[in-house]
Amino acid sequence: MTFDIGQFSGECACGETHKLATREIIIESGAISGFAGLADRLELGDGAVVVCDDNTRFCAERIAEILGRRMHRTRLACLSAKDLHADEHAVALLDGMLPPDAGWLVAAGDGTIHDTTRFVAKERGTPFVAFPTAAAVDAYVSATSAMTWHGYKVTAPAAAPVAVVADTDIFSSAPYRLTASGLGEALGKYTSLADWKVASLVTGEPYCERIASRIGEAADAVRAEMPDIRRGGRDGCERLMYTLLLSGTAMQLCGSSRPASGAEHHLSHLWELEVINPRLGALHGEKVGIGAIIVLERYKDLLKSGALASDRASPVYGGLPTRLLRAKFGDHYGNIVAENTPDPLESVSPDALLAALPEIREIVAGLPDPAALAKQMEDAGCKTTLREIGLGDGILRDSLELSPFVRARLTLQRLSSMLPPRGAAL
Ligand SMILES: [Zn+2]
Ligand SMILES: [Zn+2]
Repeated sequence: MTFDIGQFSGECACGETHKLATREIIIESGAISGFAGLADRLELGDGAVVVCDDNTRFCAERIAEILGRRMHRTRLACLSAKDLHADEHAVALLDGMLPPDAGWLVAAGDGTIHDTTRFVAKERGTPFVAFPTAAAVDAYVSATSAMTWHGYKVTAPAAAPVAVVADTDIFSSAPYRLTASGLGEALGKYTSLADWKVASLVTGEPYCERIASRIGEAADAVRAEMPDIRRGGRDGCERLMYTLLLSGTAMQLCGSSRPASGAEHHLSHLWELEVINPRLGALHGEKVGIGAIIVLERYKDLLKSGALASDRASPVYGGLPTRLLRAKFGDHYGNIVAENTPDPLESVSPDALLAALPEIREIVAGLPDPAALAKQMEDAGCKTTLREIGLGDGILRDSLELSPFVRARLTLQRLSSMLPPRGAAL
């Protein structure tokens, strides 16, 4: 399907002039065979190195062969898939594998291969082309890398791809667990978009209605296609890949992950820190999908309990709960405090929050019903419960309480601590 790269370019009603570094996005069957033409069109020149792991080596070899036919000298850099993470080890390994005359890179693989490649591409000042082999995450087209750096999760500046080539024949036949994980990632946009809008209402943070509504529509389209995606249907899988790439494009346009990452991602990031839980084997989108269901339930509860009612006492904020954070985050406490300095809640005026409540109630009322979404996800083979990723239900309360502090980003969940409970709210 066509991805209109120009749809957000230029001046926008939001006041920004949006600009994309990515020049082409191709999503179609057989897209891989267009690699040589793409290299010519974008004048990428000679000396491509295709980065892959053992699982995606077959794609990398085909790309090298296609480029080789047009006299493009191409080499492979194949990382071992075992224990591969986007961290300082993978970066050093890839950097050591690249020849000094590497002209441009292709990331042929999943999110880890992309995060590692884009980080190295930025450091070396080398262009790179994204070749996602599964519709699993939305970061393929973003300009930041989600890295683990000496044990701590960071969002590192990285290169945006000059082009994305997504071959439906390849990503629609990826192991289904990856596709199901991509569904969780795509459906997580409901809560991330709600958090973005809420934050903009309360603090005046930049918000783009055009970008937000396109992502919202794309998430709705994915939701409608879930039975087809479950069957491995190409149209449904293309719709999913389109939505993930659109979300990544939005991150690039906004210069941050704001449109694509809200309270549902904060839950995932908290579990990745392993401060209240053991190491999980779950995929990113599995955690995000479950996070989205939890956050939807939480937001609907806020609405039901009257915590978002306007006829209440003025909201109050008591500052960072440092004792709690020190007790729960342990060795990560210093990082958590640094992340939350300045504290995003301190910029929130109680009056502005009170004034925004009617619109916040509307936003929450417009969110999908969590039980209905969970059922659809379950039918589509997605993980939907904490237990399925190795967490007990007892972790829920701590997860909701602590996760807002893993990122200095305003979400409704973080704001809710300024709204003392009327009923059952935390
Ligand atoms: Zn994500
Ligand atoms: Zn805009």
